[in-house]
Amino acid sequence: MVILQQGDYVWLDLKTGEEFDVPIGTVVTLCDSGLIQVVDDEGNEHWISPQNATHIKPMHPTSVHGVEDMIRLGDLNEAGILRNLLIRYSEHVIYTYTGSILVAVNPYQLLPIYTAEQIRLYTNKKIGEMPPHIFAIADSCYFNMQRSNKDQCCIISGESGAGKTESTKLILQFLASISGQHSWIEQQVLEANPILEAFGNAKTIRNDNSSRFGKYIDIHFNKKGAIEGAKIEQYLLEKSRVCRQAQDERNYHVFYCMLKGMTPAQKKDLNLGQATDYTYLTMGKCTVCDGRDDLKEYSNILSAMKVLMFTETESWEISKLLAFILHMGNIRYRARTYDNLDACVVLHSPDAVTAAMLLEVEPRDMMNCLTTRTLITRGESVSTPLSMDQALDVRDAFVKGIYGRLFVWIVDKINAAIYRPPTGETKSVRKSIGLLDIFGFENFTINSFEQLCINFANENLQQFFVRHVFKLEQEEYNLENINWQHIEFTDNQDALDMIAIKPMNIISLIDEESKFPKGTDATMLYKLNSQHKLNTHYIPPKNTYETQFGIQHFAGVVHYETKGFLEKNRDSLHGDIIQLVHSSKNKFIKQIFQADVSMGVETRKRSPTLSSQFKRSLELLMRTLSVCQPFFVRCIKPNELKKPMLFDRELCVRQLRYSGMMETIRIRRAGYPIRHTFTEFVDRYRVLVPGVKPAHKQEDLLGTCQRIAEGVLGRNGDWKIGKTKIFLKDHHDMLLEIERDKAI
Ligand code: ADP
Ligand code: MG
Repeated sequence: MVILQQGDYVWLDLKTGEEFDVPIGTVVTLCDSGLIQVVDDEGNEHWISPQNATHIKPMHPTSVHGVEDMIRLGDLNEAGILRNLLIRYSEHVIYTYTGSILVAVNPYQLLPIYTAEQIRLYTNKKIGEMPPHIFAIADSCYFNMQRSNKDQCCIISGESGAGKTESTKLILQFLASISGQHSWIEQQVLEANPILEAFGNAKTIRNDNSSRFGKYIDIHFNKKGAIEGAKIEQYLLEKSRVCRQAQDERNYHVFYCMLKGMTPAQKKDLNLGQATDYTYLTMGKCTVCDGRDDLKEYSNILSAMKVLMFTETESWEISKLLAFILHMGNIRYRARTYDNLDACVVLHSPDAVTAAMLLEVEPRDMMNCLTTRTLITRGESVSTPLSMDQALDVRDAFVKGIYGRLFVWIVDKINAAIYRPPTGETKSVRKSIGLLDIFGFENFTINSFEQLCINFANENLQQFFVRHVFKLEQEEYNLENINWQHIEFTDNQDALDMIAIKPMNIISLIDEESKFPKGTDATMLYKLNSQHKLNTHYIPPKNTYETQFGIQHFAGVVHYETKGFLEKNRDSLHGDIIQLVHSSKNKFIKQIFQADVSMGVETRKRSPTLSSQFKRSLELLMRTLSVCQPFFVRCIKPNELKKPMLFDRELCVRQLRYSGMMETIRIRRAGYPIRHTFTEFVDRYRVLVPGVKPAHKQEDLLGTCQRIAEGVLGRNGDWKIGKTKIFLKDHHDMLLEIERDKAI
């Protein structure tokens, strides 16, 4: 039996048997008459009798006050990781390392750790030299880029609201500040964000500024290390939000900002009122967002647009389209009862008139388009009426189509200002740092096609992480004959194969069914079932009435509701709508629809499906990432309430568990994440040992490497020499670099 004294730290296992329950840290406050009183990390008291002493275990000293790098944890288990993050968090220390991987817990409050002074402190330092920080990762990216002359990328992951977008902005801010002369291009790169956020972010129940699209920002640096441009790639904007918002959620920020910020004269021109007047802005019964100043934001958006070379006309045309969308949302229909057809008409209203005016089309054409559909049978076109439900769908699809294309146009416009294609001269010397801020894993009460795409993206990123951290790493030890005990890890390749890689994968089946004229959501589900019912990652519907199927993702099981899958995947507008746009006198809308108009009436057949486009852009992304040296930032959301100083242990354990944090710590602790070829190593560090010649003049490279390493890191240091490379720990890298700085 353990003999305990007051003040001792122990783990208490409450053994609740719940999935995400892990032992909690406690401190002994009283040992009296055989009973022990402990207070746990959340301030709760427990009494333990000696019979229950199996429930307590002594705590390793590293867990008492916590460590900056979790590979140093003595208690290498979930409880140890969790308490480490918790005690740091309660002291407002939100960053912790796992080797060079940064874990960031969202503080939900502004901490004084992002000042110019802090930027200075972290500039030109080695990871580990200063306390963990997002700036240290940014600095390391920048330094690595220059040292190795290779492109870098930073993959920022986490659930919605975990802090990915804020982390991305902080890295960008740091890079801009250390790289440069505050050039015009640098300012342009920074000002892209307010525009993207206005059009692509919204208040959700999870995050007041939730990004509803994914992005990859590639920042380009010239020979001297100054920012010379950037390129933004966007992924899969959530278009449905334009027409529908869940309770307590909002539409995209830009609508509310515009209605708050426009002058009365401008609003009059567009016949606009206030946010509460519009159906599309009030579905969530929420038009304001605490802590956001829509009025102020509007002027930020306008000035950012100026910086990014949007002309006055373009800004106004954008406003016109946004106003068009709002008026469209207010259009009302009435069922047509005077004949037996299931048909409807648009009620005459100022909104309907304004909408047609803004679109610059004949009002009658627009009304026809919204209530009937032209079918071509045997070479003849016949106009058939739409039911009320169909008419509403057509309208919403049109509006979503406009907003989606507008968003793409805006990103293209931004890129036109900040992206400089490499010329012959700059091509070879340009290096880049890419920042990936992409929607995290999603699992709602009802999940649809969008969630499938998002979770598919996350499976890809997880595989990238697994490959980089576990597979390639261990393969290399084998190749180089390093003595190595294999570390087990959870590989999500099988799930990924089923979703998108192997023949007849889920995405391809959905795609095939979308192109098949008679395909329905039900026939699609049938095909998914027959193909995958025996796959352990697939969960078939319980019975023939059920319309959901499930996937065992790396982060848990998600059930997908198949209703609407094909329509969403086809993502096509009816020919009549395209014709309407074609007939418009508004040049701007024609421009954003250019690709469709040139495709002709039959867009359904020819336009690529959403999933095939998305799959392609993901493949390109993965290819880009695979030639970069990656850094990983894992953002953790500490509670669901957006509150500071509240650490929900269960929620955190769940995120740590599925991100593979335990295995990551284990491999980082056992492994040698830094490696150099003998030549690289000798040339970089020969200054540390007097009289060592450059690599190309060496006869025994291996021996020289060994000599340098022994000299600086000690003969018994935990580094290894392989067949072609030397393998080091993160702290060796820091030590070598510090010594090198001193020597040169
Ligand atoms: P995600 O992009 O992962 O969905 P965000 O980066 O938008 O999450 O963060 C959500 C909110 O959390 C932010 O709007 C901000 O209020 C807060 N937040 C995130 N990171 C920080 C941070 N480092 N410091 C202060 N607040 C933060
Ligand atoms: Mg975000």
